Amino acid sequence: MTNALTLTIEKNGVANLVFDLPNEKVNKLSAPVLSDLEKALNVIDGNKAIRVLLITSEKKDIFIAGADINEIKDIYDPKDALEKVSRGQNILTKIAQLKIPTVAVINGACLGGGLELALACKYRIAIANSKTLLGLPEVNLGIIPGFGGTQRLPKLVGLQESLKIILSGKAIDAKKSFKIGLVDDIIREEFLEEKLSHFVSEIIKNGEENIYLQKRRVERKRRFIFESLLGGRFVIFYLASKDLYEKTKGQYPAPFYALEVVKRTYNRTYGMRGFKTELTAFCELVVGETSKNLIEIFFTNEALKKDSGVENEVVALEVRKAGLLGAGIMGGGIAWLFANNNIDIRIKDITQSAIALGYNQIVKVFNQLKKIRKITSEQANMKIAKVSAGVDFVGFSSVDLVVEAVVENMMVKKRILAEAENQVSENAIIASNTSSLSISEMASALKKPERFVGMHFFNPVNRMPLVEVIRGEKTSDQAISTIVKLSKKMGKTPIVVKDVAGFLVNRILLPYMNEAAYLLQEGGEVKQIDNIIEKFGMPMGPFVLADVVGIDVGVKVSHSLFESYGSRMAVAGILDEIYNNHKELLGKKSGKGFYVHPANKENPEIESILYDLRKARNLHPIHIHEAEIIDRCILTMVNEAAKCLEEGVVKNARYLDMAMIMGTGFPAFRGGVLRYADSRGIENVVQKLQELNKKHGERFVVSKLLLEMSESGRKFYQ
Ligand code: NAD
Repeated sequence: MTNALTLTIEKNGVANLVFDLPNEKVNKLSAPVLSDLEKALNVIDGNKAIRVLLITSEKKDIFIAGADINEIKDIYDPKDALEKVSRGQNILTKIAQLKIPTVAVINGACLGGGLELALACKYRIAIANSKTLLGLPEVNLGIIPGFGGTQRLPKLVGLQESLKIILSGKAIDAKKSFKIGLVDDIIREEFLEEKLSHFVSEIIKNGEENIYLQKRRVERKRRFIFESLLGGRFVIFYLASKDLYEKTKGQYPAPFYALEVVKRTYNRTYGMRGFKTELTAFCELVVGETSKNLIEIFFTNEALKKDSGVENEVVALEVRKAGLLGAGIMGGGIAWLFANNNIDIRIKDITQSAIALGYNQIVKVFNQLKKIRKITSEQANMKIAKVSAGVDFVGFSSVDLVVEAVVENMMVKKRILAEAENQVSENAIIASNTSSLSISEMASALKKPERFVGMHFFNPVNRMPLVEVIRGEKTSDQAISTIVKLSKKMGKTPIVVKDVAGFLVNRILLPYMNEAAYLLQEGGEVKQIDNIIEKFGMPMGPFVLADVVGIDVGVKVSHSLFESYGSRMAVAGILDEIYNNHKELLGKKSGKGFYVHPANKENPEIESILYDLRKARNLHPIHIHEAEIIDRCILTMVNEAAKCLEEGVVKNARYLDMAMIMGTGFPAFRGGVLRYADSRGIENVVQKLQELNKKHGERFVVSKLLLEMSESGRKFYQ
């Protein structure tokens, strides 16, 4: 017994089954809770005193958040999966088979198994509340709904809407749920009792002819005409599959399985057999590597949400107003982020024209959001009003935080930071968005270096979720925890890292891009290398990325890494050659680099630069195989990641993996750089690196940590 459920039966025949898991923030359908549910259903079934069953939750803003992911994580045997999941399916089917009307009263998050439970009820009511979200997020964990979701949802709301929910894993709000017929009514919380009693009397009094079922029948008829008579079903499946390939490149099996299950079972005559088909697909996926990797990421995310970034307990400052230095590419993005989170932001730049460019950026992102209806014009205007700007320090005396995003130059940064410190209050925190300069050195320009911290956003700020929070030698816990708390509040994922050259992400990413350049000069081809790396799962190949970042920017950062880490980070000749002697080839921003933009065709000039370079260095181009390209590029990342862990640049392997997934788009289905090493086998990784070391020298000196792990048989994820 979990004491998660209580059943009360009123004199008027209304039974209320209340979910409230003791000592838990949310309601989950764990195996013991399902057992309790089954017992309660046995009491309800056939009970003459009950005329209608309400299923409700006592938790604020949560109906049922889903199945227990800890239990899913531990399933390694398809037989075990079959037993556990079919049990859940059967229990929910018991709800569906009750002879009395059943109503799920959804007062908040109703996700995964929670929504499947609600779908097993005959009716659903949503409380109008921004926290009321309905969805089937299973594909995000590499699985599909297993408690009947692929069967009941399409029948209730039709193919088009159900596929959107099942394949995207995204939740929808109460209003949208009502619009598509997922819920029968929306009720404002303050009128709940009264409206619910109306609802109940309507369904009892009018039975199958009640207004809610009538509405459903009308909708079903309309859908039937489109889906069956007009050939819509074929079109819907075709488009859904095409869209999935575009989004996932076929690398995430779960949504394809889900699509196939719905395709095979969305047929009136298929009946209960559909549940079995769903089960079989679920069991295959749940024991697969992708699902295990995605579930690990889920838990890392949960851990990061709870992590204050510091070991000691300190009070993080509340940031209500911020100052921003520099309204360039990053400044514009940062200003947008603060404004979007309703934080007043005062920008300082050196010219009005720079400020105008920053404003343009802010407005551009809000306009994009308006276009996709994420925000109304009034909301956007109110948020834009949070931004003000000038060429002076007006307003800085009352800010809680200053973020510096001026040009990447130590002297300029030190000067502007010292100036800013003189303008702000004693307690204000000061942060820099530098991508490569030392936080500790910059702090030396300040009177109170303990208030200084790195807050490294990624470009474009509105889309990239990661913030590296960099602890300098003197940075205080309060400065760290303030930035961590603020970043979370603004919807970002902050990860605390040490103040080393390149910090965490660039220190691992740049050597990988550099290695791709070595491969190129030895005989690889731009498109070939990019394609192979994309097939591995990176969102874009290293040369597309170099063009996006700017070849000049990449080479400069690579050189600063070389200065700090020595010859193992020696910059590939082809990069220096382009940087020094072909200054017009900057990448996307100058129209050409490794590619010609916007057509994205390979740039023939690169071929002739390579020809000259190989000739000068007496290099004879050789054909390089796919496996070698993967090994050299990806194992370079693995090795550097292991070195970062060894040096304590980041707290643990999980956080490192999350940083690489969020900061570089390292494929989530592989679980991250170090998780990839685990799945290849540490011994295999070490052996390959040693071979590469023999052949290519210092760039592949194996990290001590990897060597030690290989000897002791340890893995990054135990
Ligand atoms: P940018 O050249 O687009 O913008 C710099 C802005 O700073 C310009 O508007 C300039 O007028 C202004 N500025 C220069 N001196 C100033 C001063 N004394 N006072 C106020 N404003 C001044 O540069 P960016 O790409 O936005 O980069 C800014 C910072 O962010 C750099 O430290 C860079 O390393 C870092 N960063 C850049 C990226 C990126 O992808 N661009 C990513 C992460 C971090």
